[in-house]
Amino acid sequence: MLGTLDDAQIEQVLRSGTLGRLGMHAEGRTYVVPVTYVYDGDAIYGHTAEGMKVRMMRANPAVCFEVEDIDDMANWRTVIVWGEYEELSGDLATACMNLLHARLAPVTTSETAGPAGRHPAAKDGVAVAYRIRPTVRTGRFEKS
Ligand SMILES: Cc1cc2nc3c(=O)[nH]c(=O)nc-3n(C[C@H](O)[C@H](O)[C@H](O)COP(=O)(O)OP(=O)(O)OC[C@H]3O[C@@H](n4cnc5c(N)ncnc54)[C@H](O)[C@@H]3O)c2cc1C
Repeated sequence: MLGTLDDAQIEQVLRSGTLGRLGMHAEGRTYVVPVTYVYDGDAIYGHTAEGMKVRMMRANPAVCFEVEDIDDMANWRTVIVWGEYEELSGDLATACMNLLHARLAPVTTSETAGPAGRHPAAKDGVAVAYRIRPTVRTGRFEKS
């Protein structure tokens, strides 16, 4: 059976996930990258080094974010979110990195996905912290 997730189910998929696909479009090019994230009920928080995705999101902050919760090909829940990329600084950036650290440290085994507050690919090791506040959210599921 295919169906639509209600608000509570969308909330559950976003809160339980740690990996999403961040999609953006700027200067005639569309780009999708996997990133780790934390959702706190208000916004999606992430971190990154300087690079193509940050350049594109600065040029056009309108982004799309997808999260999937897949048991198998006939049993899954997915959520798609539209929102605005917002770069964080000062206390907000620190709070973002703390949130990522608390949620991701127990499940992190790699450098890029890591929540350390420093990013291994960043020039000076310091991550760019950001959030995306959902403006539109949709959810679908399949259950066998
Ligand atoms: C499970 C997982 C979790 C991750 N979590 C994070 C995270 O939280 N934060 C984060 O910054 N990065 C994360 N990454 C890495 C991320 O997907 C990007 O590879 C990385 O951030 C570099 O993106 P960029 O746009 O800055 O690339 P740049 O270094 O600017 O390079 C751009 C070029 O590299 C290519 N490229 C970049 N990334 C990829 C890729 N993943 N696969 C194929 N081609 C690629 C682009 O097509 C483009 O040609 C994660 C990856 C995985 C698999």
